[in-house]
Amino acid sequence: KTFTKEEIKQIVADENVEFIRVTFTDVLGAIKNVEVPTSQLDKVLDNDLMFDGSSIEGFVRINESDMYLYPDLSTFMIFPWATDGHGGKVARLIADIYTADREPFAGDPRHALRTVLTEAREAGFTSFNVGTEPEFFLFKLDEKGNPTTELNDKGGYFDLAPLDMGENVRREIVLTLEKMGFEIEAAHHEVAEGQHEVDFKYASALEAADNIQTFKLVVKTIARKNGYFATFMPKPVAGINGSGMHTNMSLFTKEGNAFEDVSDEMGLSKAAYNFLGGVLEHATAFTALANPTVNSYKRLTPGFEAPVYVAWSASNRSPMVRVPASRGQSTRLELRSVDPTANPYTSLAAILASGLDGIKRELEPLASVDKNIYLMDEIERERAGITDLPDTLLAAVRELAADDVVRAAIGEHIADKFIEAKKIEYTSYRQYVSQWETDSYLEKY
Ligand code: GLN
Ligand code: MG
Ligand code: MG
Ligand code: MG
Repeated sequence: KTFTKEEIKQIVADENVEFIRVTFTDVLGAIKNVEVPTSQLDKVLDNDLMFDGSSIEGFVRINESDMYLYPDLSTFMIFPWATDGHGGKVARLIADIYTADREPFAGDPRHALRTVLTEAREAGFTSFNVGTEPEFFLFKLDEKGNPTTELNDKGGYFDLAPLDMGENVRREIVLTLEKMGFEIEAAHHEVAEGQHEVDFKYASALEAADNIQTFKLVVKTIARKNGYFATFMPKPVAGINGSGMHTNMSLFTKEGNAFEDVSDEMGLSKAAYNFLGGVLEHATAFTALANPTVNSYKRLTPGFEAPVYVAWSASNRSPMVRVPASRGQSTRLELRSVDPTANPYTSLAAILASGLDGIKRELEPLASVDKNIYLMDEIERERAGITDLPDTLLAAVRELAADDVVRAAIGEHIADKFIEAKKIEYTSYRQYVSQWETDSYLEKY
C-alpha cells in the first residue's frame, strides 16, 4: 500500500501523531533517524528535510556534507507502543538519501538495492521476492538496566513454557508487528537456550529489507519493555548455536515464479539453476556483506547448523544453499549463510547481482551434495568441487575487494567505505588479547 501526501496528513491529524521519525540505514547497517514534530510535516513530505552526512558512518567528507531525506511514502506507519507520557503518537517514514544537488546519493544502501532491482527488471524479472528467518537471543538485564550475558531460559527447539520463558515477550513482539502491518507466519523457540525466531511473510526485496530493519527495532524495543535485552549478534555465547538469518529467494516474471519448471526432475527452472550457479560463484565475495562482523565468523564453524562450505543440496540442511520442499509459486532457494548483522540493502543487492550474473553467463551449479558435508574429508570435498567460505572478516573483505560483480552491485562508494571500515574493525580486534590466548599460551611458553 502506498499513501499520498494528503492521506498522510489526514492520518497524522486523525490519530494525534505528534512526531515523525525519518529513518535510513548507514553503510554498516545501523538504523539512523531524525525526529521532527508534526509542525514540520510539510517540509518532510516535500523532500526538504536536511541532515549532515559527514556525521554518518561511511557517507561523505565534511565539505560535501549537506544531504536531503526523500521519504518513501509507502513506508509510513505509526509505532504502536506508548510514549509513556512523552507526547502523542510517533510515526515513521523510511527515506532515500539525496545529495545537495538533488541526485540519489551513491553512498545510500537503499539506492544500491534499487539500482540492482532496476537491472533485474531490465532482464525481465518483475520482482525479487525475499523471505527471511531472523534469529536472536534474549538476555537478562542487571539491576541498573544494563545487558548481561545471562540467558533468559533453558529452552530448545520448539519448547514450551516454563522452559521457554521467552514466550510472552515473543507473543508481544508478534502482536506489535501485526499492528504494524506485518504478516507473521511463525514464531518459536530456537535450538539454543534463550534463542528465538520470528518469521514474517516474504516481500519484494526493497520492502523485505525495510521490514528487516523495522523488525530489529521492534524486537529490541519490546524485549526492553519486558525487562530483557535482545541481540542479533551472530555468536553471543561460545559452544551453542549462533543466530542466522536464512534468506529465501525467488525471481518472478509477469508469468509467475521464474524458478519453477515442472518438467525438471527437481522442479527447478534453468533460471533457478543459473541463479544458484551465480550465488555459488560469488559466495565468498558477498560473505563480507552477509556476515560483516568479526563475530560472524565464530558462527560459521562446523557443528552448529551454520554453513562452512560453498555448496548446495536439495535434501540436506548442512550446505550453504538448500532447496526447500515447497514448489509452485513458493519454489525458492534458501541461503543459510546470512546473519542478522548484515546490512539488508547491500547484502540483498550483492546476492541478487550474483544470481543475475549467473543467469547472464548461464553458470551451472556444481552437483548437489546429498550427504552430510561435515562427514566428508578434505579430499572428498575437493573432488566434489566444494570450497570453503571465508573463515575471518579479513579473508572475506579481501574476497569482496577482488570481485568486480559484487563491488559493482553495491557501487564503488559503498565498497570503498565498507572495505576501509572493516579493515579497521579487524585490526582493532587483532590487537585485543583474549582469554583463550592467555589460557592456551601463558603457561605453555
Ligand atoms: N541457528 C542456526 C544458524 O546459525 C540455524 C538453525 C535453524 O534454523 N535450523 O544458522
Ligand atoms: Mg526457520
Ligand atoms: Mg532457525
Ligand atoms: Mg530455514
